[in-house]
Amino acid sequence: MENEPRGAILQRDKQTYAIVPRTPAGIVSPEHLENIVAVVRRYSIPVIKMTSGQRMALVGIRKDDVEKIWSELKMTVGQATAPCVHYVQACPGTVVCKYGNQDSLSLGLELEELYLDMNLPAKLKMGISGCPRCCGESYLRDVGVWGSAKGWTVTFGGNSGGRPRIGDVMAKNLATDDARDLVRRLLVYYRDNGKPRERTARFVERVGVDAIRKDILASAPYIPAGEP
Ligand code: SF4
Repeated sequence: MENEPRGAILQRDKQTYAIVPRTPAGIVSPEHLENIVAVVRRYSIPVIKMTSGQRMALVGIRKDDVEKIWSELKMTVGQATAPCVHYVQACPGTVVCKYGNQDSLSLGLELEELYLDMNLPAKLKMGISGCPRCCGESYLRDVGVWGSAKGWTVTFGGNSGGRPRIGDVMAKNLATDDARDLVRRLLVYYRDNGKPRERTARFVERVGVDAIRKDILASAPYIPAGEP
């Protein structure tokens, strides 16, 4: 919106703003934490809210302070309203979790970096989990990926909102390169065929999971016909 400060969302009081610094896959550095604490103190920001997307919302910021805070934070803007990838949440996976089958953290970081600037019909969230316990909430995200000992399962069309939907399995037991490639195909297909503001859950319901699978998997040599 014109005249709105960069990367800021007007709050209920119609006077103050919230900002959400980007924290890919929920990872923050000591420097980022120190900068956050410093701006919260300096600008008397009343609320730091942990979001469901593994991000920190700084809430109750005066309009004139927004740009100064961004420059002092030295962090990039996390998208909160634009039609694009808002975040990729990821569990720790094999990096630290004893149950991990796959490296969900690395894949999550990579996917966020790859698709950060991709324009889409609506906002999109991804959830990457290192094992079937799905701590990364994969089945409830637009694009979900979770690992087993045999490889990655990729799901599409999940949503945890007011009309919740469990994502459909698009393929199972994929190598990392193939899972990454399938995520790309799904995003491109959704970008090219989704209606404006249509989330993937509604998109899958409208187009049909079988049609999507057929269109996408027909050109994916790594997935045998009829799978999953
Ligand atoms: S999904 Fe599995 S690997 Fe990831 S945190 Fe949960 S238990 Fe650990």
